[in-house]
Amino acid sequence: NVPHCSIVHHLSLHEPSPPRLTDTAMGCGSSTPGGSGSAPMVGSSKPSIRGLHKQAVVEGIHNVDQPSLSEGYGEDVFKGAVADKYLKEQGLTCKDLDDYTWINDKAKPDQIAKAMMCWALDRKATSFCHWFQPMASTFRHGDTGCVQMSMLEFNDDGTPTFELKGKNILFGETDGSSYPNGGMRDTHTAGGYLAIDPSSPVFLRGDCIFIPACLVSFDGKALDEKTPLHRAHQAMSKEGARLFKHMGMEIDGMVNNIGLEQEIFFVPREAYERRLDLQFTGRTVMGRMPARGQEGCDHYMAPIYTQGRVLACMKEIQHQCFKLSIPLKTRHREVAPNQYEFAPLFGSVITQTDQNLVVMQICEEVATKHDLACLLQEKPFAGVNGSGKHNNWSISTLCGAQLLNPSDLTKKSGNSEIFPVVMAAIVAAIDQYGDLMRLSVACPGNDFRLGAMEAPPSVISTYLGGQLTDYLTEFMNGNVYEYKPSTSPVNLGVDILPVVQAPAEDRNRTSPFPFGGHRFEFRAVGSTQNVSLVNVVLNAMTAKVFSDISSRIEAGETAVEVAQDLLKKHFRSIFNGNGYDPEWPAKADALGLHHIDSGVEAIDKFVDPKNVELFSSMSVFTEEECKARRSILLDAYVGTIEMEVGCMCDMITQHAIPSAKAAGMDSTAMQSGVIELKAAMAAIHAAADNFEAAKLCRVLRLETMIAVRKIVDDVEGECPANLWTLATYHELLFVDTGRDIPR
Ligand code: ADP
Ligand code: MG
Repeated sequence: NVPHCSIVHHLSLHEPSPPRLTDTAMGCGSSTPGGSGSAPMVGSSKPSIRGLHKQAVVEGIHNVDQPSLSEGYGEDVFKGAVADKYLKEQGLTCKDLDDYTWINDKAKPDQIAKAMMCWALDRKATSFCHWFQPMASTFRHGDTGCVQMSMLEFNDDGTPTFELKGKNILFGETDGSSYPNGGMRDTHTAGGYLAIDPSSPVFLRGDCIFIPACLVSFDGKALDEKTPLHRAHQAMSKEGARLFKHMGMEIDGMVNNIGLEQEIFFVPREAYERRLDLQFTGRTVMGRMPARGQEGCDHYMAPIYTQGRVLACMKEIQHQCFKLSIPLKTRHREVAPNQYEFAPLFGSVITQTDQNLVVMQICEEVATKHDLACLLQEKPFAGVNGSGKHNNWSISTLCGAQLLNPSDLTKKSGNSEIFPVVMAAIVAAIDQYGDLMRLSVACPGNDFRLGAMEAPPSVISTYLGGQLTDYLTEFMNGNVYEYKPSTSPVNLGVDILPVVQAPAEDRNRTSPFPFGGHRFEFRAVGSTQNVSLVNVVLNAMTAKVFSDISSRIEAGETAVEVAQDLLKKHFRSIFNGNGYDPEWPAKADALGLHHIDSGVEAIDKFVDPKNVELFSSMSVFTEEECKARRSILLDAYVGTIEMEVGCMCDMITQHAIPSAKAAGMDSTAMQSGVIELKAAMAAIHAAADNFEAAKLCRVLRLETMIAVRKIVDDVEGECPANLWTLATYHELLFVDTGRDIPR
């Protein structure tokens, strides 16, 4: 919610009001004396601190030291108090906007569109667009799409005016022919139909307002990431309500909340400009490790240099997000040199997913402004940690009972048996659909993370911790009572220091899906990913097991009996040990857990009959949509590797070989490497289908490319530094060490 103090004059003192002609021509501000463009400032006539702040941002890219006050919070997003002001001018309030049925009303869409337009014009935005998320959008910047349309129209007398009608914001239509469709349509039936997503607020960037939208084909097939996320969320909500009714709690539905921890690298722009691979693929395909890496883990959580460009950049990112109601509460250094993290306050899966896409965009844009490049890829550098995006996941009833918070759930439902039933459902879902969880994180960059000692293994299990596991064991064996996790005091042994209350369970960062008290944390998600598919899977599999339990209850069993049975069958997916233990994968195999090392093989699970049945029964994907998604993910994988190989060949030929020759060094091994890479690529092009091609790509990437890289990196180590023309890891990785601070 937008705090009350955001109802201030929405233009800073430094900015003139929009022209009066257009104000009145559009009917903006008709109900407020003076019009919205010149509404008096609430509070006082003192200089606006926000205005000063803006001035600072404009003046100097390294000068964003003004305090971020709550007064500008959410001013770039059409909701809450910001929207209310404009909606009132049209006879509505923000409550009308929050009730998503406005889209079916006769009059409200036009009124809301007009309010939006007046807000936009006041903020100097004159364009609008439907903003969508094409399918399997793996490549930056292609992960969102929009066509920006001016609101410019002409009066009968030929004078220009601005206009935005209800129909303009509700629907759109675009030529979607260049987007992947996985065989779901032909180029001669290429229309992409856009429908507003009323649950995700309209936001403003630059001179354009962005209307979050779903993209479907002529015959209603989902062509985007958002539509299936809505479908899965709705299924979870409906099945949750159905199950809870059986356990005595009548609710209207459920909401899935997530909080995404976004890891990123910032590298100096000047070095980035000298790396074709980073520019084209987001990762370095070669580069010798310097004498220092992350041996000391000294970068981890160390204070960010207060005077350097990284902190200035991070602060500006936070500020831009702040104006968009994206509260990036957490910022810190991560373990690899130049690696950082942001985390927002959690919220509904739909808006959080949209907002994360905006955050990634802002990170890239603002970094450029600060002479940095933001790398979102999962593994930009070999030899140091890669980046993830932990997907913290929980479910709440619409009335606010937290399903993963035992005391809250029991208090609000009055039934202590619901919590163990929910837990049994999730444990069963993980065991049955762990392959889909693995699939959902099978983005190309994750090839280098999963299973390495920096991210959870490609075995899917869950960590519940000792107390909860013991409790569920007792429950499963017939001893049914209320779960009350206890904290334990940790005494530091010093009189003046406080006693720490440790939670029921310690953290486990080696599990892909640990329970963290009130939430699960899916830790295997890649940093560059649109998290829609991840949460499609989590919600669909939970919905399915909720549905299975309800069906059994309807057939005569009790909820507790079903939960006990599910736990007996699926207890193996609870693993509280060390996921990094080299022996764990073999043990997991013996237990029959889902263990898929290859992302390519994981993608193929989209068409496994059990998974098609899950998705179709929950109305998330039809079989045709499953096939299409599989195909698109495979194509995206092949396309990624093709670009990486192309970069590698060019960089060796245009840089490494000439450098070696200038230094009088032998370059024949590198030449042979290029020939080998090109031959492998030719074999991939000749593969029978995209599954075979993707399998070959994976081998090329994890074996041939690594072998060729070794040759090049060894040459780099011997070549005089002044002759090596590519930016080195040393140049790329140590920006936040104070070397950029003016002296
Ligand atoms: P960590 O110490 O795990 O790195 P962070 O603060 O970096 O914690 O990130 C944790 C993320 O989890 C935040 O985005 C936070 O808002 C989110 N989160 C906390 N509780 C919940 C919950 N119940 N449901 C979903 N997300 C949550
Ligand atoms: Mg964190």
